[in-house]
Amino acid sequence: MRQWKEEDPQRRVVGYFPVFAPRELIEGAGAFPLGLHGGGQQVELMFADSRMQSFVCSISRTTLELGLIGNLDLLDAMFFTNICDVARNLSGVWCRNFPQQQTIFLHLPMHPPGETTLRYLVKEFGRAHRTIATIAGNGHGTEPLHVAIAAGNRNRLLQAQLEQTHRSEPWNLSLPALYLLRRMGSQMTLAQHNQLLADALGRLQHSTVRPRDGIRVIVEGAFCEQPPLELLELLEESGCYVVGDDLARGLRPESAPIELAQGGDPLEALARWYTFASGTQSVRHAPPQQREDYLFGQIEAASAQGVIFLNAKFCEPALYDYVVFKNALERQGKIPFMTLEFEEKQSTFENLRMQVETFVESILFT
Ligand code: SF4
Repeated sequence: MRQWKEEDPQRRVVGYFPVFAPRELIEGAGAFPLGLHGGGQQVELMFADSRMQSFVCSISRTTLELGLIGNLDLLDAMFFTNICDVARNLSGVWCRNFPQQQTIFLHLPMHPPGETTLRYLVKEFGRAHRTIATIAGNGHGTEPLHVAIAAGNRNRLLQAQLEQTHRSEPWNLSLPALYLLRRMGSQMTLAQHNQLLADALGRLQHSTVRPRDGIRVIVEGAFCEQPPLELLELLEESGCYVVGDDLARGLRPESAPIELAQGGDPLEALARWYTFASGTQSVRHAPPQQREDYLFGQIEAASAQGVIFLNAKFCEPALYDYVVFKNALERQGKIPFMTLEFEEKQSTFENLRMQVETFVESILFT
């Protein structure tokens, strides 16, 4: 990314922290959206712990560490939303520690969908768009937003096709492969990502991997901090086909395309989509019944035989959901579930492997 910027000094890069950052908004304002999902297993904390508590999630601390060791000095701005108290506070810490970068904080509405929410969000998206367009020196025209929204819609379509293939033939497209294809979207423009996804879909048509025995499960809880790839591989090696997940929320296709009529206001279209069509999320207020409906909808759509809760350590939104989900599954009494806790920098998995294998056997032999 640094090299790409050096080739043209006019280029601008806006980093964004998960869960939801509208890539269309950043690209449509003339900047490159660079998704930051922490340091994974590759960053040792040296400085971040002097700015943040040790009892918060790892992704927030390693993202800050990446900044403090100079890896993110190429960013022109950093984008946060109000997904949780940790992200909210991290934006303040960022602002103080990196005054040369602009910190953009987007207040997403927590209220239920409605016209008031929509009006508020149009203004909020407009504010963010103007800020980024000013940084990018791109004027405040909306034509690039039209282009970005069209690319975003194609991205949703291609990802939905990949997910469909994964669900119907999970032996042909494993969870780690699907996840990596999705995650690559954080390092590319929407158009580049679309090309990658289209290539992958083309190659899948010639895949001839033979099916194996496995139970169909969905994974919930790892929507922000991401588990190590080895953990995803372990789930499938232990006898699961993970045919539904909420990994890397914000990069995965949400429910519907953005509807933008010819000559319509793209900011309004983007805000309408987020308000009414972008689906329920752990980091967005929803009554417990709505969360339960979401979970059972996921189970049904995937024809899942079990649920694995994959909660990031210290992630409060995941744990709040877990209470609702666990109670709902216990009340229903038909779908078995298990719970695993992970950290992005985890490197030993044998204990987890035994737990998953036991879970698989308990389903196979009942
Ligand atoms: S992992 Fe959870 S607690 Fe941490 S920033 Fe993400 S949503 Fe917030």
